[in-house]
Amino acid sequence: MATTDQAREQSVVEGVRPQLFIGGEWRGASGGGTLPVEDPATGETLVEIADATVEDAKAALAAAAAVQDEWAATAPRERGEILRRAYEKLVERADDLALVMTLEMGKPVAESKAEILYAADFLHWFSGEATRIEGRYAIAEKAPGQRVLVMKQPVGPCVLITPWNFPMAMGTRKLGPAIAAGCTSVIKPAKQTPLSMIALAQILEESGLPGGVLNVLTASSSGAVMEPLIKDPRTRKLSFTGSTEVGRVLMQQASEQLLRLSMELGGNAPFLVFDDADVDAAVEGALIAKMRNIGEACTAANRFHVAEGVADQFAEKLAAKMGEMKVGRGTDPDVKVGPLIDDAQRGKVDELVQDAASKGAKVLVGGRRLDGAGYFYEPTVLADVRDDARLLKEEIFGPVAPVRGFASEEEAIAAANDTEYGLVAYVYTSDIKRAFRVIEGLQTGMVGLNQGMVSNASAPFGGVKQSGFGREGGHEGMQEYLETKYVAMNVGS
Ligand code: NAP
Repeated sequence: MATTDQAREQSVVEGVRPQLFIGGEWRGASGGGTLPVEDPATGETLVEIADATVEDAKAALAAAAAVQDEWAATAPRERGEILRRAYEKLVERADDLALVMTLEMGKPVAESKAEILYAADFLHWFSGEATRIEGRYAIAEKAPGQRVLVMKQPVGPCVLITPWNFPMAMGTRKLGPAIAAGCTSVIKPAKQTPLSMIALAQILEESGLPGGVLNVLTASSSGAVMEPLIKDPRTRKLSFTGSTEVGRVLMQQASEQLLRLSMELGGNAPFLVFDDADVDAAVEGALIAKMRNIGEACTAANRFHVAEGVADQFAEKLAAKMGEMKVGRGTDPDVKVGPLIDDAQRGKVDELVQDAASKGAKVLVGGRRLDGAGYFYEPTVLADVRDDARLLKEEIFGPVAPVRGFASEEEAIAAANDTEYGLVAYVYTSDIKRAFRVIEGLQTGMVGLNQGMVSNASAPFGGVKQSGFGREGGHEGMQEYLETKYVAMNVGS
């Protein structure tokens, strides 16, 4: 790597304050502790950041609670304008922010930039939604002298927890509607990728967000630090994006105060290709659905169910394309596949591949971890995967595509639904009647029809079954942060 690149990397990392953001102040952890942020492409520490204690977490919630009423009373346009300014700054600084994201998370820099722009879209979308918080008015159905007035109000202080795989977009999907609705928040990014969230908080502060409305905690002991906040009566909502396993634990904690909940959890997306589909288009869609974010996406196609007549052709074409993808550090513009987040994740991916292979799957390409520094794994396509292979049931979270044939439409739908998850499914067919039959039969919150990506700030993102509940984005995303109050009005003479 050229020296100038190193200097730029150092400079963008130094631009991020390695501190907690509480009540509008940047400061170190109360115990003085720090935690390292690692570059997964090298295993080296990029920077040490503040490691919050329970005391810091309580201070953050106190700061959020203290300004809740004042924030709720601001003009919706004012809240929207702050989001709008933050959107513009994110777009202006997308290149530097993308480099920070690649350094802490590993994905190729072009993908990081796409995430920054996607994250910015939520701020833009919710800047408009802030001014469209509406209620309704009606004459009571059996009493002409009475009126039904329905108003929407902010739910109150929110606790927000985000994962490492989309370090900024998972934040703006929550903060955009929270800020627009008039809620204050304490947000905790994953310890592996805190820098993008801190950079976002700096931008929101610069955009005029008053102190206390947003508080950011970075911590090595997420459970210990967050549990007291989730159980605190001042908190009114918990929005969590992460694994189903942790989501279940947090739901139990949230039951104490009966918090409003949004749970964006794990996935196991089926990708269905029917024999009337354009196979080349399906392969292109498969590359996006599988390889975006190195396969570390809740929406990643986890298994490919392909009509028997075209399954071999599809698998071979996909293997050829995946075999061509350059693997390496995401800062190299030619790289298409960065490192996995850590060695444990790479070990899990390899275990799933070896399990499938030992049960008879054919490895068409890849199938190995790469030697040397960083947590790299080869893009892998497996054909003839047997029913009992673990990767058909478990979230892979890596660049591995298992392909299986199906004999009929009914079999395809049954296979797609044979999972505890229900986030997204992808369907490739040129027959519109079939498309509707299949889409209506799928047990998922989202479907991509003849496209390999569903993410869109103006659409309701979310799952069913053990992929969770609640929606982020769209008009629905705003409702998650609003409470309904009904006023029974006696206006009769
Ligand atoms: P994770 O282990 O569940 O962690 C998610 C977040 O929860 C992190 O900030 C983590 O902090 C925190 N956390 C972990 N244990 C906690 C506890 N006991 N109390 C409070 N917070 C706790 O998930 P991940 O590995 O980061 O993310 C991958 C998962 O997220 C996958 O399953 C993926 O499908 C899912 N995901 C879902 C969506 C969606 O919209 N449905 C989107 C993206 C990702 P630390 O890491 O700092 O401990």
